Amino acid sequence: MAKNDVRAAAALLRHYLEHFAKEACDRLRASVEFRGDAQSMLGDLLPSATSALGELLKKAKATANSWNQKEGLDLINAIETGFGEAKIKTGYDNWQINTAVHFNEWADLNRSDFAPVVTAFRGFADAFTCDKCSEIYFVSPDRGKKEALRCGCGALNLNLLQKGV
Ligand SMILES: [Zn+2]
Repeated sequence: MAKNDVRAAAALLRHYLEHFAKEACDRLRASVEFRGDAQSMLGDLLPSATSALGELLKKAKATANSWNQKEGLDLINAIETGFGEAKIKTGYDNWQINTAVHFNEWADLNRSDFAPVVTAFRGFADAFTCDKCSEIYFVSPDRGKKEALRCGCGALNLNLLQKGV
């Protein structure tokens, strides 16, 4: 970015997001279409990570409701709102449909158009991350029934076990 090399910066951002999305899909136990060549691309991974977090928050909300936990609901609503805003800033409505094209177009942007893209995706990645321990949220345990959405330090620890289910 400093050298005004948007092409290189765009490649770097794509690379970073691919790494981030892979990690997020793994930790959130997202469903990703199977590829025999193990070449899951950003276009597969980022939308999967995004819907996984959305669904987990929805599930956490239903769970808090089922236990009648008002405080828990406020926290989840706040996270959901932040996540929703971060999504909008990245132009989610465009890239969820045609990710490959969208991300390749970055290289042709000029510097002043690309800078907000970087900021938006940084904010987007932050929405998956605990601001205390900087860990991407994860589902616990890592297989079997999903019991909680949490982070390493426990600042986030959302129950996923609904009452009576
Ligand atoms: Zn944490």
